[in-house]
Amino acid sequence: MGDAAREMTDWYINLYRNVPAAGPGVCRICHSGPNDSYAICDGCRDTKRNVRRPVRNVVPISLCIKEDDQLYDIVSRSGNQSPRRGGPDRTTFLAATISRFYAAHARCLKRVAGGDFTLVTSVPSTRSGEPLPAFHPMPKVIQMIAALKDLYKPVLWPDIGAAVVGPRVSNEHAFKVTGCVDGKVVLLVDDIFVSGAHVQSAASALHRAGAASVTVLVVARLINPEYNEANTIIWNRTRTEPFTFERCCLCGTSSRRSSESD
Ligand SMILES: [Zn+2]
Ligand SMILES: [Zn+2]
Repeated sequence: MGDAAREMTDWYINLYRNVPAAGPGVCRICHSGPNDSYAICDGCRDTKRNVRRPVRNVVPISLCIKEDDQLYDIVSRSGNQSPRRGGPDRTTFLAATISRFYAAHARCLKRVAGGDFTLVTSVPSTRSGEPLPAFHPMPKVIQMIAALKDLYKPVLWPDIGAAVVGPRVSNEHAFKVTGCVDGKVVLLVDDIFVSGAHVQSAASALHRAGAASVTVLVVARLINPEYNEANTIIWNRTRTEPFTFERCCLCGTSSRRSSESD
């Protein structure tokens, strides 16, 4: 997408919120706020519990909140549903966001992945009653990103016989893996990260099928600023600072340094 991605994301730059680096008060997996002095948040603690090979690195491009947040409106809307307050085409917006972020931070992602990605895939929906093509728009999004599309393969499928993944309840049997993922360095792409139940379930299924590593890239990490003090601090800080694609939660610092000084 290149220039088009830059142009679109610049136009909507005020919708994004910087994601803090892991550290005191920031979950080392998903970058939301843990309780007290824990290194991981409640959501990650719960979703890690049911899977044997949880993912260690979730890289959100932006934070978002549920109320009065246009980024959440765009990212969370399904299919061709029109946004509540106008706004861009969802697929193009997601592709532009991921494309620009990946161009700037592929090195950061590969560093935590332990090497170059050899497979890009996405998390299918486990909602029942959806027709197959409505699984997820992510494949369409990834096809628009030059740096990722050739590595893309839909290898994860909901396992119809398995229990459904619920809020904060992961299940590594919820997905089955088709095709060879043995030894693959996987970039798992998703639109929104809420508790991480889907992502942890999908990542664990990939690990169990032989993937060498799984790194998760999500457009938005939904947080509730009222949930605990750490989330309040994270949100109050990020909502008042300008967003920049120049840093990410892997290469930024966990201090209050402003984006301009990075
Ligand atoms: Zn977390
Ligand atoms: Zn980075």
